[in-house]
Amino acid sequence: MTLPQSNPNPQAFAITHEVFNQTPPLLDFNAFDCDTALKEGVVRAGAAWAIPQLTEYGARIGSAEVTRWGFEVNEFKPQFFSHDRNGHRIDLVKYHDSYHQLMSMALTAGIHSAPWVTPEPGAHVTRAAKVYLQAQADAGHGCPLTMTFAAVPTLDTTPALAREWLPKILANGYDPRNVPYTEKMALTIGMGMTEKQGGSDVRANTTTAHALGTGGTGEAYELVGHKWFTSAPMCDAFLMLGQSRGGLSCFLVPRWRPDGSKNPVEVQRLKNKMGNVSNASSEIELRGALGWMVGDEGRGVWTIIEMVAMTRFDCMLGSSASQRQGVAQAIHHAEHRSAFGKTLIHQPLMRNVLADLQLEVEGSLAIALRMARALDHTQDVHEQLLLRIGVPVGKYWICKRSPFHAYEAMECLGGNGVIEDFITARLYRDAPINAIWEGSGNVQALDVLRALSRTPEALEAWLLELDKGHGNHATLDASVARLKAQLADMTDAEYRARHLVDQLALTMQASLLVQAGNNAVAGAFIASRLGTQSDRNYGTLPRGLDIDTIIARGNPTVS
Ligand SMILES: Cc1cc2nc3c(=O)[nH]c(=O)nc-3n(C[C@H](O)[C@H](O)[C@H](O)COP(=O)(O)OP(=O)(O)OC[C@H]3O[C@@H](n4cnc5c(N)ncnc54)[C@H](O)[C@@H]3O)c2cc1C
Repeated sequence: MTLPQSNPNPQAFAITHEVFNQTPPLLDFNAFDCDTALKEGVVRAGAAWAIPQLTEYGARIGSAEVTRWGFEVNEFKPQFFSHDRNGHRIDLVKYHDSYHQLMSMALTAGIHSAPWVTPEPGAHVTRAAKVYLQAQADAGHGCPLTMTFAAVPTLDTTPALAREWLPKILANGYDPRNVPYTEKMALTIGMGMTEKQGGSDVRANTTTAHALGTGGTGEAYELVGHKWFTSAPMCDAFLMLGQSRGGLSCFLVPRWRPDGSKNPVEVQRLKNKMGNVSNASSEIELRGALGWMVGDEGRGVWTIIEMVAMTRFDCMLGSSASQRQGVAQAIHHAEHRSAFGKTLIHQPLMRNVLADLQLEVEGSLAIALRMARALDHTQDVHEQLLLRIGVPVGKYWICKRSPFHAYEAMECLGGNGVIEDFITARLYRDAPINAIWEGSGNVQALDVLRALSRTPEALEAWLLELDKGHGNHATLDASVARLKAQLADMTDAEYRARHLVDQLALTMQASLLVQAGNNAVAGAFIASRLGTQSDRNYGTLPRGLDIDTIIARGNPTVS
């Protein structure tokens, strides 16, 4: 038997394939400039003056460096250390350096503070646009940013605490050191409401608060109990609910006492979450932790609801951002990938899917920025009333649409879409979170019912706003008429609440898009989401729509 001769040129055989028809990463683009819907929305909502700073911010968000930070904070999860080497409790969570970079970037830009510090028209809209951009890099670190931002109106209810804490909370800067708040110039704030036996129903809270002196607003208490979810446990203080003699009250609980000793807010462990992994979420025990009462005794829910409303608003922005990132990746991929002899972007069925995904973003942004505009004008009663319904409607609808949207965007990338090297995998894992925290879907829907029954003027304001789009599209007009008929009969309202909120959301999105004046977008949104085609998969847009315009608006490399 003769053996085969050895190959005279082994390297020729080592070359197994050439890499082609793979999509380059979407890097070094301007995430604001390329986002037509965002740019137009910001101008419409009264913040045209902010275009230069948003353009600058968009370039930073789209940069290779910030994109890398987003990947690293999810790859290197926060780590918890309960004790130091000698056995002292330290309750320390260590984050990857990229987490600190993202936090520093956002806190320096005033994402937590700008509209409170300079409440000029357009300030909330500008901040909303920055949140929307920031969340496209990574969703998880948005948690402490939003809680810090949202804590301000609640702390404002108690002048003694506001005087001491707000200057440092509102300072533009980031100080992650594990030292007492008295030694820092910039602080972050978390929130502890949810306990094991109840999250939605916080009245079930069993944590107790005993007055150390006279008790009452601004006074010191000692808290004993537990919290089942407390995210971002390295925050400098937390707004928490606890039962005092007068009922459920709100407290500001610092991580360190003013005398520099450790406040016994003890982290039991970090949650092992499916998504939102760059954000540490902890279980804590309060073993006689010092806290000061915020707001009136027994009015804890009322006091903290100011904070909750703001975090719910940010959930709308965060989920809209995830949708935007998904569409950007999907269109980018479709432009570079070929199958069956044509790039995906030229395949009619893929065009249908991409346009439909972009329409979702248009609707989400329309309602989110409308609420941002309302926040800029809360001295106007109409705007205040719009917020009362718009925040739970928007939070419910946008957050609930996002997991399915993320899944479809992921599928546009085929198999690559589920691989962690591609952001679509992360978007999908993160997508359900916003719908659950800060009031899950049913809780939002029930809150809308509460607003409808307790504040009927809010519905009047909502319908007035809807009617601004009247007379342009017969389908929209018919949907609004149907909605009004449904609202006129509130029999079994609780059972029907989700359906009602769906219709409140869809008709408002459509009306806002009509008012925005882009017929391609408004027409396609109405044709696909109202009337007979309301319950549907993405990629089922009817014929005869201006798909080219819609896709171009979502293309991240066209500005
Ligand atoms: C990643 C993450 C981070 C979090 N971080 C924080 C944090 O920092 N601080 C904090 O306080 N909490 C935090 N939470 C907790 C979160 O806010 C709660 O999980 C949420 O409010 C739901 O409460 P629950 O888990 O107790 O569920 P439950 O209240 O038991 O609700 C379970 C289900 O029942 C539904 N439901 C409740 N009431 C009704 C009703 N009347 N009719 C119909 N359906 C109803 C809800 O919609 C939900 O679907 C976090 C949660 C997550 C996932």
